[in-house]
Amino acid sequence: RERTLAMIKPDGLSGNYTEKIKEAILESGFDIIQEAVVQLDAERASLFYAEHANRSFFNSLVKYMTSGTVRAMVLESPDAISRWRNLIGPTDARKAKTSHPDSIRAMCGLDSEKNCVHGSDSLQSAAREILFFFGDDKSE
Ligand code: ATP
Repeated sequence: RERTLAMIKPDGLSGNYTEKIKEAILESGFDIIQEAVVQLDAERASLFYAEHANRSFFNSLVKYMTSGTVRAMVLESPDAISRWRNLIGPTDARKAKTSHPDSIRAMCGLDSEKNCVHGSDSLQSAAREILFFFGDDKSE
């Protein structure tokens, strides 16, 4: 079994998609090991997305990610990282709506920025992002 960091972004929370997203998570066989609703400030959001610091969309991304609370969740299942990435669909929610209509981003995303959910993309980023939100407590 494997753990990944899932996050419902501010547009997902403000659009009242939390219950639908959690239903999809549980129906897909993930266990939700930990969860927390967090308000990120600009410093924390910049740290979370540090790999994108040089991208043209970085300031807009930080503004988006601090526009409201987010819900961070640790999901566990076999192949949790790739399975959660498949369930959320492509980064650009417009593409998700046409090519991955059953994905979570097709359901609640808007475009390539406001895509309502996040998922770790590797074992290394999952470990980093779980630590980012939940520290060393692994609930074991
Ligand atoms: P995440 O890391 O949030 O799961 P991702 O791995 O699908 O998303 P990344 O390329 O890592 O996508 O980009 C991180 C986030 O930055 C995206 O989820 C989106 O909110 C924002 N983003 C990515 N590309 C763009 C873009 N071209 N314009 C605006 N925002 C973007």
